[in-house]
Amino acid sequence: MSDLVLVINAGSSSIKFSLFETTAADPQVLYKGQMEGLYVEPKFSAKDANDEKVANETLPADVPKNHDYALRHMLAWLQQRLGGRQIKVIGHRVVHGGTQYSKPERVTPELLAGLEALIPLAPLHEPHNIAPIKILQDLLPDAPQVTCFDTAFHTTQPELNQMFALPLDFAQKEGIRRYGFHGLSYEYIASVLPQIDTRAAEGRTVVAHLGNGSSMAGLLGGACQATTMGFTALEGLPMGTRCGSIDGGVLLHLMNHLKMDAKQIETLLYKESGLLGLSGISSDMRDLHASSDPRAKFATDYFARRVARETASLAAAIGGLDCLVFTAGIGENDDITRANVCHQLRWLGVELDEAANAVRSGEPRRISLADSKVAVYVIPTNEELMIARQALAAL
Ligand code: AMP
Repeated sequence: MSDLVLVINAGSSSIKFSLFETTAADPQVLYKGQMEGLYVEPKFSAKDANDEKVANETLPADVPKNHDYALRHMLAWLQQRLGGRQIKVIGHRVVHGGTQYSKPERVTPELLAGLEALIPLAPLHEPHNIAPIKILQDLLPDAPQVTCFDTAFHTTQPELNQMFALPLDFAQKEGIRRYGFHGLSYEYIASVLPQIDTRAAEGRTVVAHLGNGSSMAGLLGGACQATTMGFTALEGLPMGTRCGSIDGGVLLHLMNHLKMDAKQIETLLYKESGLLGLSGISSDMRDLHASSDPRAKFATDYFARRVARETASLAAAIGGLDCLVFTAGIGENDDITRANVCHQLRWLGVELDEAANAVRSGEPRRISLADSKVAVYVIPTNEELMIARQALAAL
């Protein structure tokens, strides 16, 4: 009989889950869903294997609105549908593995202590990743749990691309380096690339994970050499509401001259900047493309320019460019941004096939002309499947 794998991706205001069933090939989704709006107005929704909505409810006002209750509610909902079948393993997305964890890890008391020591590196995310592990130890004490790290894929980066130009001893001692994020997405893309394009899989590929959070990575033979996110998920590209790379001198100016405190600066950089801040309209690309306001176009052009510039920078780090892959919400769905980026990269040998780029599909597809020096693909990412695979492999 097939086994069940539960994947948990917990954030500050939501918990997402996917339940997979093992098959001879890749695990298949049975149910996926989420509890959103924690601490405000929690809403639970779920879909089945056919992508049909099978749950959609706002929790009653008198129940706790926290992670603990949300997880118990989800698990009870799932168990009603499983008819007594046991979950074989639980895989968790964990944002930060520091320099210690370069592969998935089985949860032990030592591992939990190790993760807690990493909280200062990701105070906004790591506690929310750790909490469900403890709750599930209580709810499903017999199910082994595995942590899958967003930073692990980037541990192959050479030191040259990991360090900031701070005093080296100080930075190494304090762990101040470019860890990089979205690693599970990159790992998934690297895992499917060999079936799509062997030259790209073995060669020099830049992957653009463009979503609400956006980053890019340069891969050589499938291993990460450089990435745009750094010490935190703030560096690199502008994002929905995050500013991306910014001159550290600006922060000194905000503190010393404008007398802004750390909390105010955090809100400015994480919540009020990026596409939202530039446009003054929305953090969502769809809204910006639909708007006739010139600031909307400025924001989308700014985003595409930064993606093009980072592609060239990553190409320098991997010694050229054989392939460019677009993935995540914007990368998979936004033909306008893809075209804008590709047109700016013609000098690098990117020749977009405009008709192929306009096709809407959930399948991996090539969008460059047959004679383009650089092959360009759209490949839907699947971080949950990557976690399910890693959790099973770690057993
Ligand atoms: P993600 O974080 O990967 O789920 O991506 C979310 C983002 O993808 C949204 O904020 C939108 O900006 C973008 N997106 C989703 N669908 C489309 C679309 N059809 N066209 C343009 N952008 C899209």
